[in-house]
Amino acid sequence: MTVVDDIKGRLDILEVVSRYVPLQRSGRSHKAPCPFHQEKTPSFFVFPERQSWRCFGACATGGDVFSFVMRSENMEFGDALKHLAQQTGVELPNLEKRNQNQGNFDINESARIYFQELLASAKGTEARAYLDRREVSAQAIEKFELGLSPSDGESLKNHLVKQGFSLQQLNQAGIVRTSQNGWNHDLFRSRLMFPIRNGQGGLGGFGARALDDSQPKYLNSPRTPVFDKGHILYGLHLAKESARQEGIVIVEGYMDAVAAHQEGFNNVVASMGTALTENQVAEIRRLTKDVTMALDADVAGQQATLRSLESSWRVLQTQVAGRSQGTTLFQRPEMLNLKIAVMPEGMDPDDLIHRSPDEWTQLIQEGPSYIEYLLKVLPVQLDASTPQGKAQIVSVVLPSIQAVPEPFQQDHYFQMLADQLGVTRETLQATIDRPGAARQTRRAQPRTRPASGLTFTGPDGDPLEEYCLTLLLHEPDLEESAEGLQPEYFRQMENREIFNQWVRVCQGRQGEPSAASLSGLVEEELTSRLDALLNKEMPPLDPLSRQAAFRDVVIRLESRYLVELK
Ligand SMILES: [Zn+2]
Repeated sequence: MTVVDDIKGRLDILEVVSRYVPLQRSGRSHKAPCPFHQEKTPSFFVFPERQSWRCFGACATGGDVFSFVMRSENMEFGDALKHLAQQTGVELPNLEKRNQNQGNFDINESARIYFQELLASAKGTEARAYLDRREVSAQAIEKFELGLSPSDGESLKNHLVKQGFSLQQLNQAGIVRTSQNGWNHDLFRSRLMFPIRNGQGGLGGFGARALDDSQPKYLNSPRTPVFDKGHILYGLHLAKESARQEGIVIVEGYMDAVAAHQEGFNNVVASMGTALTENQVAEIRRLTKDVTMALDADVAGQQATLRSLESSWRVLQTQVAGRSQGTTLFQRPEMLNLKIAVMPEGMDPDDLIHRSPDEWTQLIQEGPSYIEYLLKVLPVQLDASTPQGKAQIVSVVLPSIQAVPEPFQQDHYFQMLADQLGVTRETLQATIDRPGAARQTRRAQPRTRPASGLTFTGPDGDPLEEYCLTLLLHEPDLEESAEGLQPEYFRQMENREIFNQWVRVCQGRQGEPSAASLSGLVEEELTSRLDALLNKEMPPLDPLSRQAAFRDVVIRLESRYLVELK
C-alpha cells in the first residue's frame, strides 16, 4: 500500500468536502454549488462509494480527495500530501533523514515492482511475445525480475511521486531526467527492463533494451552513488554459490546470463562491457580463482577484443600482485586461471545455451587458457611468417608468459611460443635478451605494475589522457563535467587507476577531490605518475574555456573508445 492509499483510507471525502461547501444528499451521491466556479444550480457532486468528486458544470473536471484539497487550498501535490498526512497521523517516509543511498535503493525497488507489474499486464503483451521468441521462460523472467517501462514517459514518475519521492530524488536516482524545456520525464520508455543488483543484492540501477528500433539499443541508469556499471557484474548475487564451487563464467550480455541461469548454469554473470574492471575482479576473487570468459566467434580474434582481454588479464594479475604484498619471497602469488571459451560461428552464448546445453558445457570446460588462446589467434592476425610479425607476437605474449608464477607451466608456454613461431628456444631466448626487449621483460614481472600501460598502446604515454587527468586534478570544479567520463576510456592502466581513485574520492566525499586527498590514496606504484601529472604546466585558461576544453577532451576520449569498440 502506498502512503497515498494509506491516507485516503483514513479520510472520508464527504467529511473533507463539507468543510468547504455544504453538501446535500442526492440519491447515492451528494451535491453542492461548485466551489471552483460561479453557479446557481448545483452541478458539483461527491460520490462517497468511489471517494471521488466531479463538477458537471463549467469545470468539467473531478478527482479524489487529494485533487480536491489541492484545488481548494491551491497547493502542490507534495504540500497536500504533507497537509493530509498530518491530519490523518500518517508518517511520511522521511527520506531526507535517511541517507541518499538507501533512498536510491528504495526508488529503484519501487520502479522495479512497477516495471514487473506492467510487463505482466495487458500492456506487456508485445514485450512478453518478444521474450517468448527469445525463449526466456516465465521462471527466468521472475528470477531476473524482468519488467517493462511505460511508453508515455510520465507514468512511472507520477507513480513514484505519489509514493512520496520528490522529483529531485528521482533525478538523483537516475529514474527521471529533466529535458531542456524543463519537462521531467521517465528516463526509460517502452524498454525491456533488467534490474541490476550488486553482489550484495542492492538494486543500484537498470539496464534497458529497446523493443523497437529506437536508439540506443541498450540504455543504462546513469552513474549514481549506488550505481556504477564498472563495479557490478550482472547476476552475481544469483551466481555466488555456484561460482564458489564451479568457478565463474563471464558473458557479455544480459540475455546471455538469463539464458544460462534458465538452463541451470548458475555460475554465469554478465560483464556488461568489454574489459573487466578492477572492481569487478575484486568481487570475483572473493569467490574463486577460476574465471572463464565466453566470447562470440565474430569478435573473438579482433584487436578490440584482444585489447580488452589483455586489459582484463592485467587487472587480474594486478589483484594477485596486490594480495601477494607482504608475503615472503618464497611464497608465490596465487594465479588466477583465465580461460577463454569461443562460441561457434554465428552464435552468442544465449543461442548456444538454448540450442545445445551440452556443447556449452564442453566449450566452457575445454576452453584454452588465456595464453594458449593468444598463441592460437595472434599468428592468424599478425603474420607469423615475417620477422616483424614474429616480433609483434613475442611482444604481446611474452609479458603474459613471464607473469606465470609456476615455473613448469611457464616453461611449457615458452616452448609453445617457440613452436608457434617456428623458431628454436635458443633463438627465442636470444631475442628476449636483446637490449631493446629487456625493458619489456622487466616490467612484466609479477608484482610489478605495467610501467607503460597496455601493450597495444605506445610506450611513451598518452597525451590526451594526461591532459584530461591534469585538468581534472587541477580544477575540482570540473567534477560535474566529468559525469560522462568512464574508466574504460583510459587505455593506460595507471591513468585509469588514478581516475578510479579520483572517482572514489568524489563519491566517498572524503573531502574535495583535490590533488592532496588523492596523493594519500594512490598506491606507491602510481605516485610518480600522479606527481608528473600534478607538475604539468597548465595552460592559462579562464573557467569557461577550461570547461569547454575539458568537455572536448572527454568527447575525444569517448569517441576514441567507441571507434575501437567496433
Ligand atoms: Zn465547477
